[in-house]
Parts: sequence; C-alpha cells; structure tokens
Amino acid sequence: MPNINLLRPTSLDEAVSLLAKDGDQTKIIAGGTALVIMLKNHLIAPSVLLSLDRLSELRYIRHEAGVGLRVGGLVSIREAENSPLLREKQTTLASTFGKVGNVRVRNAATVGGNLSEADYASDPPCMLVALRAKVKTRSARGEREISLSEFFKGFYETALAPDEILTELIVPDLGPGSRSAYIKYVSRSSEDRPCVGMAAVVLTEPDGTCTDLRLVAGAVSEIPQEFKEAGAMARGQCLTDQLMEDIAGAFSAEVEPLSDLRGSSWYRKKIVRVMARRAMQQATAGE
Ligand SMILES: Cc1cc2nc3c(=O)[nH]c(=O)nc-3n(C[C@H](O)[C@H](O)[C@H](O)COP(=O)(O)OP(=O)(O)OC[C@H]3O[C@@H](n4cnc5c(N)ncnc54)[C@H](O)[C@@H]3O)c2cc1C
Repeated sequence: MPNINLLRPTSLDEAVSLLAKDGDQTKIIAGGTALVIMLKNHLIAPSVLLSLDRLSELRYIRHEAGVGLRVGGLVSIREAENSPLLREKQTTLASTFGKVGNVRVRNAATVGGNLSEADYASDPPCMLVALRAKVKTRSARGEREISLSEFFKGFYETALAPDEILTELIVPDLGPGSRSAYIKYVSRSSEDRPCVGMAAVVLTEPDGTCTDLRLVAGAVSEIPQEFKEAGAMARGQCLTDQLMEDIAGAFSAEVEPLSDLRGSSWYRKKIVRVMARRAMQQATAGE
C-alpha cells in the first residue's frame, strides 16, 4: 500500500476543518470494514485518511419525542442491533442491523459507514427508506438533513460531498397501528450480503383497514427500489392473502433487477415476488 497520512481528530469541529482543507485527497475511515478492502484492491488511493475513531460525540442512541430515534454515525452496527432503546422503538430495524454479515463485521462496522458506503447489496438501506429515515451531515459549510430516499444516488454513490461527514441517522416513530418486517434472502452463504432484501411497513386503522403500505427492495438494483404503487393498491382495504399476492406480483412485474454472482435478473424477479408477499405477511402478522 502507498504511504498514507493518518489523521485522528478528537472533535467533530476539528474533523470538518481538516476535511475543508483537503477534502478531495482525503478519505474518511470509520470501522474500516469496507474501506480497507477498497484500499487493498487499489480501488481508491487517497493520500490522507481521516479516522473518526476518536469522535466519541458521534456514539449515542437517543429518542426524542416528536422526532424519533437519533443514532450517532459512529455507533457500531452491533451496538445498534443490541440497543434496548432501539429494540423497543424500532424492533424491526434492530433485527435488520442484526442481519448484516457476521458478528465480527457488525462489531467493527458503523451505521454511518454502512450508509455512506452505499453498496447496493446492503441490508439497512431499504428498511430505512421504508421507515422514511433521514441522515444529518456536517461540513465546515454547516449542517444538512437528507432523506434516505434522496441520499442514495447510484453504485457506491451518495449525496455526500467529499468534505461532509454523516453525523446522525434519524428514524421517525411509526406510531400506533403500524407494523414492519425486513427479510433477507441469501443465495450463497448464510453470512453473505443479500441477493434480495425486502422491507415492508404497513399502517392500519384499528379495524384492520390499511391506510398505507410501503414496500422497498434492496440489492435488486443500484439503489433501494420502492414499489410506489403499493400504497394505492392497499389503501382502504384489508390486506388479504389474495391482495398481498396481487401486490407482490405487480412489484415483481415492475422491477428490473440487475444480474450478479448472487443471482440473475430473471431469478431476482421471481424472488422479489416471493419476498414481497412474505414481508407483507410477516408485517401483518406482527412478528
Ligand atoms: C465480510 C463482510 C460481509 C458483509 N456483509 C454485509 C451484509 O450482509 N449486509 C450489509 O448491509 N453489509 C454487509 N457488509 C458491509 C458492511 O456493512 C460495511 O462494510 C460497513 O457497514 C461499513 O462501515 P464501516 O464503519 O466499516 O465503514 P468504512 O469501511 O470505514 O467506510 C466505508 C465508506 O464510507 C465512508 N464513511 C464511513 N463513515 C462515514 C461517515 N460517518 N461520514 C461520511 N463517510 C463515511 C468511507 O469514506 C468509505 O467510503 C459486509 C462487509 C464485509 C467485510
């Protein structure tokens, strides 16, 4: 590996001012689980690495009434998975974090790193899009909030500028009458990234009538794919087995999946149908 200058700021203010000076030549490193692989494979060649490891101010999980959960960008995926607060407020999201890779990866990898990497075959992004989550960023120019549906731009591409740090994930509360599910289908090993991930969020009246349905697939294309028709198909109705089958079929017909080593486009299209139906069934059963 070439010589790289490692910077380890001790505050967010210091980190953003270092990035402001030399953002284009600098790569941020958090847990390093993705970045070190990119370096070893010569996919990137930064002259400076800016480590976030001393920024303890980005390690917190809080809940704020009217806002929802606030998760610091440097919280590890394992901490998020095991957080009693996160498990209480967003049970499905906690278990989604628990489906990332294996324990070794989850111990080192951070929530901010997972989102900033923007690998198409990831678990948390599609669940977070379904939950209408957003991220907060910080640079020397100030702070921004970006909805996750706007954050992912393409393969390994996000709305982050080179001098911006993802500081916080904000997940709004779902409210009464809402249920969610995330399921992951792997085609190679149990610890692999998803061949298809599927998130479902169902909002219902007390009598069971559906007021909204969100279905978002992960790993089928470069960014999470939401089936925008789902809400219109379900609204005002009870989610019967037949209706769920129809919605899953319509999603599968619409989606144009990519092909990779985990599955062909044709195969993924079939899997989307099964996974969409199962995710709705799991969400409505309240598992
Ligand atoms: C063996 C293995 C299995 C995996 N399996 C899965 C899986 O099943 N599901 C899944 O979802 N993921 C999986 N992953 C991916 C893993 O979740 C990511 O590698 C990890 O979340 C990245 O986090 P990190 O903190 O290590 O980021 P790093 O590797 O440190 O950084 C990743 C990228 O994000 C940038 N970055 C990091 N933090 C910030 C920040 N706060 N602000 C701005 N930019 C930032 C870095 O510059 C870099 O470009 C797997 C990874 C491995 C190695």
